[in-house]
Amino acid sequence: MALIVHKYGGTSMGSTDRIRNVAKRVAKWVRAGHQLVVVPSAMSGETNRLLGLAKELSPASSTPALMRELDMIAATGEQVSVGLLSIALQAEGMEAVSYTGWQVPVKTDSAYTKARIESIDDQRVRADLAAGKVVVITGFQGVDEEDNITTLGRGGSDTSAVAIAAAMKADECLIYTDVDGVYTTDPRIVPEARRLHTISFEEMLEMASLGSKVLQIRSVEFAGKYRVPLRVLSSFTPWDIDINEEAKSGTLITFEEDEKMEQAVVSGIAFNRDEAKVTLLGVPDKPGIAFQILGPVAEANIDIDVIIQNVSQEGKTDFSFTVHRNDYARTMELLERTVAPATGAARVVGDAKICKVSIVGIGMRSHVGVASKMFRSLSEEGINIQMITTSEIKTSVVIDEKYMELAVRALHKAFDLDQEAA
Ligand code: ADP
Ligand code: ASP
Ligand code: MG
Repeated sequence: MALIVHKYGGTSMGSTDRIRNVAKRVAKWVRAGHQLVVVPSAMSGETNRLLGLAKELSPASSTPALMRELDMIAATGEQVSVGLLSIALQAEGMEAVSYTGWQVPVKTDSAYTKARIESIDDQRVRADLAAGKVVVITGFQGVDEEDNITTLGRGGSDTSAVAIAAAMKADECLIYTDVDGVYTTDPRIVPEARRLHTISFEEMLEMASLGSKVLQIRSVEFAGKYRVPLRVLSSFTPWDIDINEEAKSGTLITFEEDEKMEQAVVSGIAFNRDEAKVTLLGVPDKPGIAFQILGPVAEANIDIDVIIQNVSQEGKTDFSFTVHRNDYARTMELLERTVAPATGAARVVGDAKICKVSIVGIGMRSHVGVASKMFRSLSEEGINIQMITTSEIKTSVVIDEKYMELAVRALHKAFDLDQEAA
């Protein structure tokens, strides 16, 4: 008997028929002798619908008082899902009980709309499991110290599932979704993308942080920190396929490098359309200038990603960085009003139509020439690179948004990602 956490995403929970299928699949695992905790997302489209209603009443979204209410609203999507799934399980002859985040409780900090899980009390859940029940817990939500309902950021049900698996020391956490695993890149953009049988934890972390939405980044961080065995697999296979076959399907996130079977230099390509670029032109180049520019940005709670400072000419330099697109207008205003006058910069320009494309692979540690192959491939497509950033296992470029798909496809081909690795 094993303790297993299943997570089902929005599409997997998208209709009562699909929920019935989820219940049948879970019942199969229980009948095979396992204890099951199930973490579903809201039905597909529901979180967007709920947040859309809020936006109709108030387009502003950044005051803490308003964000508290956004969480109050968004959390209801998952509450409906757990109730429906518990009913469907009971209809399958299972004993099942549903809980919201605050009932467990899943305790978080108070950063509304992007709260972090601090602790999970597993007593109630363990008692139910011991009594033979399937426990269904809302994804995406928790409760802060003052009993306010919080949510974990979009895609946060992945994190709920992995955190619950970690807290309960589950034998495995299975993330069921609408694709049958982690691919070399988003199969919606590149049809030739190939499913990876395994991906190292470090690569998965990079892929998630660089924009692959198949797993929320924090879920991967949790899996790494607590060594949660994690697998991404399809909820769209027939529910009654052989359980042993199902248990080995999809993509396993591995923690040991030598366990990695596919030794490609580049394992995957991630992309992200969520950023915008801002540039200060003609900034006097003197010690402290980066701090004078980025200090006020950090103080305004704006996250910065890629940064470039040019060499100076006649004591002046240009300074560019990227921010989340949601923060673009705020950043431009801050630079124009405060930072440019304070630093003596000549001009502020911005571009919200950029994207970041990244190649990821632990093989990059031991191979040279990977980045230059990337740059050659982009140049052959006539794509201009605006910014570059690298780490040990990734190289990212910022390019014009209109070339994103072209770039991803070209790189996918250049690194032979459509071919099974030797
Ligand atoms: P869920 O609702 O189950 O959480 P998501 O939409 O959040 O599902 O994540 C699954 C989607 O992630 C897939 O449909 C796919 O389009 C997208 N995706 C992006 N990058 C990848 C990748 N490298 N491998 C697999 N899927 C990816
Ligand atoms: N329902 C939430 C969202 O749409 C959480 C999730 O699906 O993981 O972002
Ligand atoms: Mg998701």
